[in-house]
Amino acid sequence: MSFVKLRFIDKNKSQFFATVRNRVDQYFEENEISKKANGLMIFKSVFYLGTFFTLYGLILSNQFSPLTMLWMAIAMGAFAAFIGFNVAHDAIHGAYSSNDNVNEAVAMFFNILGANVYVWKVTHNVVHHTYTNIPGHDEDIEIAPGLLRVTDHDALKPLHKYQHVYGFLLYCFASLSWVFRKDYVKFFKERIGQTDNSMPPKVEIFKLFFFKFLYYIAFIVVPLLVLDITWWQFIIGFLCMHFMEGAVLGLVFQLAHLVEQTELIDANEQGNIEEAWAIHQMKTTANFASQSFLATWLCGGLNMQVEHHLFPKICHIHYPQISSIVRETAEEFGVPYYDNKTFFTALQSHYKVLKHYGADALAQRRFVQA
Ligand SMILES: [Zn+2]
Repeated sequence: MSFVKLRFIDKNKSQFFATVRNRVDQYFEENEISKKANGLMIFKSVFYLGTFFTLYGLILSNQFSPLTMLWMAIAMGAFAAFIGFNVAHDAIHGAYSSNDNVNEAVAMFFNILGANVYVWKVTHNVVHHTYTNIPGHDEDIEIAPGLLRVTDHDALKPLHKYQHVYGFLLYCFASLSWVFRKDYVKFFKERIGQTDNSMPPKVEIFKLFFFKFLYYIAFIVVPLLVLDITWWQFIIGFLCMHFMEGAVLGLVFQLAHLVEQTELIDANEQGNIEEAWAIHQMKTTANFASQSFLATWLCGGLNMQVEHHLFPKICHIHYPQISSIVRETAEEFGVPYYDNKTFFTALQSHYKVLKHYGADALAQRRFVQA
């Protein structure tokens, strides 16, 4: 089977990335700071992991009413997403430590939360980070094929008229799909986007099933055995935990690449993008609430995706400090730097994108046909 290898051809010989990289390197050298995790990052990791596993322990202690346990399960859902953003995402990028064994050890929490490190490395680190917002290559813009239309390449159906409403409900299913379906489908797919995935290492097949099994035991079998609740009460708790986790994951992911400013860029007939890779990243990525301490504390580096996409191997804890360098260099080179001031402006913008490719596209079609 042949795979289309997409290339970035920088016809303009842009000096933007070389310049911003030098300036960022200089910042770390002059201040004698490591690009990896610092004390605050370790505190953050302990806080998120500690809270999540404390909630799990408290629920299993069987000392609380079903309603209190439900609230704790919902909080666990949010904290699972925060661990993904603040701890695992950095570790899987190799941004947590300069020692790869440490990165791998920290990344294990991703497996323990029901996801799969290997699949994430291929779909996110390689495919999404290289081919951001390129239809047919970046599977992150194939959110719920058939149900959500977010590019002009997707077939337009009557139900898309309402996608700006039900889209947000679909996000609530993101982690349930992740835990029960998505990883298996992607793991055994021959190609992810246009990237060859025909030969996953055998040890990864073992890890996929081992950790999924561990997750089902820890989060389904053990609670059912230990807790004094009925099976339907358990199902409500488990679903609410995942709806919360899915909503947080879905929203934060979409606000970075599917807002009004960010572009979807098609490869040309030769299968190339005629732009430097870094310029492509700046055109397809947006920050939100980047000045907000709370947003950065909760979202890890994901509200500062511009810095993250340029420097995925720098720990997110440093992004607030390097963002002014990136912003100023982008201005100097006339390169876009997209930043939605608040979470809600980004949310509103994403809503408009869903409407643009759904209800507006249908209205436009009716107008053309009339
Ligand atoms: Zn990333």
